[in-house]
Amino acid sequence: MNIILLGPPGAGKGTQAARLEKERGMVQLSTGDMLRAAVKAGTPVGLKVKAVMEAGELVSDAIVSALIGERLDGDAANGAIFDGYPRTQAQAEALDVLLRERNRSLDHVIELEVDEAALVDRVTGRFTCAQCGTGYHDRYKLPVVSGVCDVCGSAEFKRRPDDNAETVRTRMSEYRAKTAPILPFYEALGIVQRIDGMAAMDKVSGEIASILDRD
Ligand code: AMP
Repeated sequence: MNIILLGPPGAGKGTQAARLEKERGMVQLSTGDMLRAAVKAGTPVGLKVKAVMEAGELVSDAIVSALIGERLDGDAANGAIFDGYPRTQAQAEALDVLLRERNRSLDHVIELEVDEAALVDRVTGRFTCAQCGTGYHDRYKLPVVSGVCDVCGSAEFKRRPDDNAETVRTRMSEYRAKTAPILPFYEALGIVQRIDGMAAMDKVSGEIASILDRD
């Protein structure tokens, strides 16, 4: 099964994709994670995209589509959750070709509908355990014991450099200008489902599950 999770930054795509990976053995393809790994490792791609990512703008279509292509021939050969990709019309068309070349197709595009004003608040307070990746929030979900991860006990946490208010606003406007307009492309295929991304995490997971289990 190949599905796209679509929605602005902070809509919960990454959280839901990680749950699907854990619970259903699906493979999460997050171009944001791949790019952050490239920046951390200092690869040529990482050096090229670092400043663009810090500004909250989109990196080139060719770079992200190449990253996706590599994974479709690797660990995601049997299906994928596209998280943060495609983000432009050109990427949607590239994905179409990448899948078609492999005799594959999209099953669902799930749009997480959210309230933008609340998103800035959600994104600017989030941080994760540096060890196990568990997500926390300054205002909504602090570790039970201050400074210690509830899950693995690590005392190291990290924040994304692009999760500040100004960059989040740029990321939102990039979403509005370039990503939301690709929805009609998928609507024409009759595969778009919309769910309320402001609902509690478990409710969102339940709705995604019922879409996937309908097949
Ligand atoms: P994300 O983790 O999905 O929020 O992505 C973080 C940043 O990585 C974005 O603000 C962009 O700079 C870059 N990025 C991630 N995915 C894409 C994509 N599909 N197209 C262009 N830029 C991307």
